[in-house]
Amino acid sequence: MKSRSASSTADSVTNRIESRYCGRFAPSPTGPLHLGSLVTAVASFLDARAHHGEWQLRIEDIDGPRTVDGAADAIRNSLVRHGLEWDGEIVRQSTHADRYDHAIAELRRLGMTFRCRCSRSALSGDPIYPGTCRRNPHHDGEGAIRVRARAIEIAFEDRIQGGYAQHIERDVGDFVIRRRDGLYAYQLAVSADDGDGRITHVVRGADLLDNTPRQLYLMQLLGLDAPIYAHVPVLLGADGTKLSKQTGARSIEAHPAGENVWLALTLLGQSPPATLRGAIPNELLDWATRHWRIDDVPRTTAITNFLALC
Ligand SMILES: [Zn+2]
Repeated sequence: MKSRSASSTADSVTNRIESRYCGRFAPSPTGPLHLGSLVTAVASFLDARAHHGEWQLRIEDIDGPRTVDGAADAIRNSLVRHGLEWDGEIVRQSTHADRYDHAIAELRRLGMTFRCRCSRSALSGDPIYPGTCRRNPHHDGEGAIRVRARAIEIAFEDRIQGGYAQHIERDVGDFVIRRRDGLYAYQLAVSADDGDGRITHVVRGADLLDNTPRQLYLMQLLGLDAPIYAHVPVLLGADGTKLSKQTGARSIEAHPAGENVWLALTLLGQSPPATLRGAIPNELLDWATRHWRIDDVPRTTAITNFLALC
């Protein structure tokens, strides 16, 4: 009887994982949405809707000093204007301190953390942490918290970019999960939130591809369920630098929303029919949901000189 109930639980868990889809779009509120982040939002939205899944909006506002007043509202309004409506309440990372503290406590319990007091200048040059404080542990509570890198390879199959792997000790090294100023590190917050059991699929910019093994590593240590990943190409300016809110990329607010969505679909390798040229966002997104083909997204991490392609 006991084993039968255990196996029926296992079956229902498998069914849940296979049938449920929950994606998320997770901007940090450092400025308004630009064309590059709109492309990511459209891809994430379409993949969720094409799977009849949920789509969550998560504001990554853990970095107080970098948060720009009003940016979260501007992003929200911009998403609505482009027909990208999320499900449920907006999730704010700034409300998740308990979850992140719990994750850090668990990593500490596993003996996987240590305090690091190395100055920024002592670490400049080598991207891999040299292990200074790991070898000479501090026993009080000051400094950043790093997680120990194990000598293991973390590999995953990206739905767009294909196979990707990093050796955690050799390619990454011990990395920071809580900064010396007390702020939670991006890697920790994202891992805890994506691994909370709700998020099944992550569609995001390929600038985060090389962050993914660190996040999978943390989820593995914490016993969390890892999502399935798809990394869409990022847009690069003519000078080869990433379009960002800071560099004032082509303002999507200055253009009709339908035109921006059309451009995003084209950059994602989707080919809406000419009859939809000039259509409103909802019409374009309806078509694109029905015809979404992630296999047609360019298998590259970056698109340069993108305006010439449109
Ligand atoms: Zn150190």
